[in-house]
Amino acid sequence: MKDICVLGSTGSIGTQTLDIAAAYPDSLRVEAMSCGRNTELFREQLRRFKPRLAAAALEEDALELSREFPDIQFYSGIDGISRMARESESSIVVNSLLGMIGIRPTYEALLAGKDIAFANKETLVAAGEIIMSAVKEKGAAFLPVDSEHSAIFQCLQGAAGNPVRKLILTASGGPFRGYSQGQLESVSPAQALRHPNWSMGAKITIDSATMMNKGLEIIEASWLFGIPAEDIEVVVHPQSAVHSAVEFMDGAVIAQIGSPDMKIPIAYALSYPKRLPEAGRPFSFTELGSMTFEKPDHETFRCLALAYEAIARGGSCPAVMNAANEAAVAAFLSERIGFTDIPRIVESCMDADPCEAADSIDAILEKERLTRERAERIIEEAGR
Ligand code: MG
Repeated sequence: MKDICVLGSTGSIGTQTLDIAAAYPDSLRVEAMSCGRNTELFREQLRRFKPRLAAAALEEDALELSREFPDIQFYSGIDGISRMARESESSIVVNSLLGMIGIRPTYEALLAGKDIAFANKETLVAAGEIIMSAVKEKGAAFLPVDSEHSAIFQCLQGAAGNPVRKLILTASGGPFRGYSQGQLESVSPAQALRHPNWSMGAKITIDSATMMNKGLEIIEASWLFGIPAEDIEVVVHPQSAVHSAVEFMDGAVIAQIGSPDMKIPIAYALSYPKRLPEAGRPFSFTELGSMTFEKPDHETFRCLALAYEAIARGGSCPAVMNAANEAAVAAFLSERIGFTDIPRIVESCMDADPCEAADSIDAILEKERLTRERAERIIEEAGR
């Protein structure tokens, strides 16, 4: 029996994590969970899973819930969520928080000796160096939930210490694969939210449409697997059957293949090194029939090039890129800017930043705040 702490339980990864916990009650028990604003769903989850600890983003929500659930100990705010992760008795913390707020809880849970299953990309994108040195120092298991990184992690299980030549990250190409720059100018949030294969939250779906999602994943993979970004190749694979691959020194490539079902990587992170029976949808080669692969269009989908640029500049640059992207995506979703303004805003913020060393979580979060302010100013100007 493994106790788990689920941060961001009402999101796409969070709800699927709880579904897995419910399906394997003899292996997994939800000891702690946190929500953002969706207290309605959170209430249902609290009733169903009866955790010992719970947290809400807003203090008034936590207060109200604590009256309804007197047996549960409540925390609030990002500090409270971090404290809950630290104080929980769970051996593993599933971080499916959205955005840069996920960084501190991961860091504090690591320092408290927990293993981490992470779906929060920003943790490694913005604070890769600090997080990976804490992972090493604590000897923690740091398990990826993201399908591509889980795929690479699975491929590496057979590496037996052999060096890797290259990581191959697959990308579906999103809803606008094959579009020209001109066609992208006028796409709406509703069009961008229609992902062909994966069902995910709004932010990551927009990131898939701009291909920033893949950019974030390059940076994430570089930190997680210790591979320089130039040895990470992105391949567009519209069927999303090959979830990523590893090329070894002898030229052999090992790929992980399966249905596009997030329950498989979530379950693997929760039960590693074991696999849970029937965790996800089975895969059929013959039903799929064929798989195709193509090179990404770096010129039209500028975000990919920006991500390689950000990791090459180093220091705080990936954190700046990510914060600018978060602000720009939110502005696009609320129809304040157009789709092609997203990479423009990200690039302006990257160019305006000196990309100095970012050696503490506080320094990174401060950089995030400053970048958001800068991005907001650019967004306002663009709206005029
Ligand atoms: Mg992914």
